[in-house]
Amino acid sequence: MKIFNNPNDLKEYRKGVKGNIGFVPTMGALHKGHLSLMERSKKENDITIVSIFVNPTQFLPGEDLDQYPSRIDADKRICELAGVDALFIPTSEVMYAHTEPMITVPNMPGYILEGLKRPGHFNGVLRVVMKLLNITQPTHAYFGKKDAQQLYLITNMVQSFFMDTIIVPCEIVRESEGLALSSRNAYLSDDEKKQALKISKSLKVATRALMKKEFSAANIKAIMMETMEGLDVEYIAIVDRDFNEIETIVLKHSIILVAARVGKTRLIDNLWI
Ligand code: AMP
Repeated sequence: MKIFNNPNDLKEYRKGVKGNIGFVPTMGALHKGHLSLMERSKKENDITIVSIFVNPTQFLPGEDLDQYPSRIDADKRICELAGVDALFIPTSEVMYAHTEPMITVPNMPGYILEGLKRPGHFNGVLRVVMKLLNITQPTHAYFGKKDAQQLYLITNMVQSFFMDTIIVPCEIVRESEGLALSSRNAYLSDDEKKQALKISKSLKVATRALMKKEFSAANIKAIMMETMEGLDVEYIAIVDRDFNEIETIVLKHSIILVAARVGKTRLIDNLWI
């Protein structure tokens, strides 16, 4: 596996490889969710490139940028074992100039839900993803449905700017008891982990209600709220696949999204229905 720290070196490497190129951008502290993206890329492409970059521009002041888990040696080993061809680990200095143009998310859906709770977050996400896609020029880039709004905004950016990459949405990987895997789960104590299970449980309860033909968004939200009693729920939202809030759930066209704090840790999860 080749390791690059500099965008120009990776661009040189990219020029020398042919066929389908799969790209998996991450912030490291790799888990089975990330691994599933890499495996899918390996299956569907000739070459797989992974990046590990804790992107400062997507963190708000007071968020966990300085504490964000870092396990770079273990991450390198995981990528190597997964058969990744090239790993890109840049620094902020090589990724960002002092002054540069900005990318701003569209009003809708950029400033609702995560965009409302974390103003500026998605501008930072789009900025870094644009840079990473320009450096790696992948034919396919793999993103988790776990970050549903991010996935939507990236797909929208790639289409709007006529970029030559196919964005591939990947299923959410969960622990056996249901908790969606996240690098931030490392912050949770054993007791908090038990509390956090209420989030995925609320989505299971929603699924059960849907199977009994309960399609009212208000009713589904109410039973989810009951399941998450004791948690600091930031939002439960039920939207169509373009992130418009809906009152009635339409199967195969809707997403239920949750954000909640467990202790100091902020977790998100969702269900595509
Ligand atoms: P992150 O390192 O958290 O920025 O995530 C990098 C990529 O992995 C993003 O596209 C995420 O949506 C995806 N991802 C994170 N957690 C999961 C998960 N549990 N299942 C599937 N994909 C995930």
